[in-house]
Amino acid sequence: MAMVQKKNVEDLNVAGKKVIVRVDFNVPLDKTTNEITDDKRIKGALPTIKYLVENNAKVILVSHLGRPKNGPEAKFSMKPAADRLAELIGKPVVLASDVIGEDAKSKAAALKEGEILMLENVRFHKEETKNDPKFAAELASMADLYVNDAFGTAHRAHASTAGLANFLPSASGYLIQKELDFIGGALANPKRPFVAILGGSKVSDKIGVISNLIDKADTIIIGGGMAYTFAAAKGASIGTSLCEPDKFDLANELVAKAEAKGVKLLLPVDTVCADAFAEDANSQVVESGKIPDGWMGLDIGPKSIELFSAEIANAKTIIWNGPAGVFEFDKFATGTRALAKAIADSDAISIIGGGDSAAAIEKLGFAEKVSHISTGGGASLEFIEGKVLPGIDCLQDKEIGRTFAAGNWKMNCGCPDDAAKLINELKPLVKDATSTIALGVPFLAIPAALEAAAYSNIKIAAQNCHFEEKGAFTGEISPLWLAKMGVTYVIIGHSERREYFAETDETVNKKAKAALSYGLKPIICCGESLAQREANETFDWIKGQIIGAFKDIPAEKLCQITIAYEPIWAIGTGKTASDEQAQEVCAFIRGVIAELYCDKCAAAMTIQYGGSVNAKTAAGLFSQKDINGGLVGGASLKAEDFSIIALA
Ligand code: AMP
Repeated sequence: MAMVQKKNVEDLNVAGKKVIVRVDFNVPLDKTTNEITDDKRIKGALPTIKYLVENNAKVILVSHLGRPKNGPEAKFSMKPAADRLAELIGKPVVLASDVIGEDAKSKAAALKEGEILMLENVRFHKEETKNDPKFAAELASMADLYVNDAFGTAHRAHASTAGLANFLPSASGYLIQKELDFIGGALANPKRPFVAILGGSKVSDKIGVISNLIDKADTIIIGGGMAYTFAAAKGASIGTSLCEPDKFDLANELVAKAEAKGVKLLLPVDTVCADAFAEDANSQVVESGKIPDGWMGLDIGPKSIELFSAEIANAKTIIWNGPAGVFEFDKFATGTRALAKAIADSDAISIIGGGDSAAAIEKLGFAEKVSHISTGGGASLEFIEGKVLPGIDCLQDKEIGRTFAAGNWKMNCGCPDDAAKLINELKPLVKDATSTIALGVPFLAIPAALEAAAYSNIKIAAQNCHFEEKGAFTGEISPLWLAKMGVTYVIIGHSERREYFAETDETVNKKAKAALSYGLKPIICCGESLAQREANETFDWIKGQIIGAFKDIPAEKLCQITIAYEPIWAIGTGKTASDEQAQEVCAFIRGVIAELYCDKCAAAMTIQYGGSVNAKTAAGLFSQKDINGGLVGGASLKAEDFSIIALA
């Protein structure tokens, strides 16, 4: 995905505010003494915590530690982490005895400026990993603002890693910011030559990484166990080396793709092979592809080291993920050590993916000599794969005015099979879009749509919801269910619903508030009929709709809301408001929000135009000052047309 700048903690007004910060204090503990054996993760969060303390915020920290299965367990308490933080920061850190219980809530309420509260292990509640909206709402109720600084869990959509952002204004902390700057920067705008070094055991774990890097890097170096699958795929002899025969076709495809794109894909030219998988095995160096029967490749050979080191020396950007051999055995760590040294010696921007590569660079003593060691294992891998990380994606944009292209399929798609088909067609077309993209699909297509859109930059919207959570409302859809399923947006008060289903400003307001209370983002529609336009009643009518829809909605919630201006006379009629007509009303709506709230609130509001937007009209409409995108009907059912709109 193209890089969208997210707000940083410095972009929030934190003084006097309660700020809930998701940190990654999942530190290793000694099994017998329960003492922290490595406090790197706590140290990593210090810059953000210090900033908040120094700027008079009331700091509420939340993290998980270990994998508690059934509620609270003393051995998974955050106490050791809270105590260590207090030592490191030189201030008391109060530990709550629960997460969203009485103790946490009363301690949060009593916080004074500059004080720090740590909640108990958030995974004491099973609702955390389910991203349960009610649990997230309870957590959010203790704070005014949300900061995510846990990169290690940013690839998970949990309540504390992503869900909180549906309830509170949000930003990243310094740790996530640094990951975004380095990894995001390298992927979006690398200094060239950009050399990616990939190793580790299996091709299957790195398919996504290699595919994404082929589109971005100049050179891809492949080492480690996975190189043997590439060699065997070409018919070479690899003895008993690691091999995934079911990935032969894929390996050959990746080689062909690199060739077609002019990307240099380098495989080892020689290998250190052993007669057993053991530290003290007998070893010999052989040419790649000529490993004798019964021997296995455990490291790259000296000629490969020379070849790869020369590429590394020439690089301006380097990403390294996965060791070149079985570096845990000293005897087979030579290749990994040599590449680590080459990276350390180069003056390129060097980024070390988390997990094993980070461990290797530290073990080999080169940690200080690289630009950035990622703090995430799975998260950094998924980031390099180009997947959308929920813990980052959920945060507010730095710049206001990002285009939001939302489709409204109405009842017009073959359900549910068409949903997956359409989304799968759309995904590659919009993967580099900087706009926000959502599809409002029929209720029955939601599960298929969510599955097809997973990890992509396409969000799913519902076309309506009820305002009650449950009860005797035959045929209605609960906003809680939608939130639990993972739906992001809900269209509310569409003119068709107002006209055919007697939806009033009052119900629109009730639905909007209900949606917000479950962490769904409402797209609130308004618009005038042809008769009203001709009678010059447009502005009065729309002002009434906006005032009605926003009744009792506090300013902090505006960042979750989108307004869609939909002139009824231009919906499904093929008539489009001219750019000027659409701009005039959207500017007026912004003015109404300014009157109801404040100028800054109005400037930050996302306002869409809807009404026969198509591939031809989108660019003109979206370039208007007060139009931040469109709510698109028919054209959102054609992948190519909608992609043109999303990229407009
Ligand atoms: P990954 O988690 O995929 O990055 O893999 C890291 C693991 O790959 C390390 O534990 C290495 O020991 C292992 N590895 C690297 N090269 C080889 C090899 N030639 N044969 C077996 N395992 C390897």
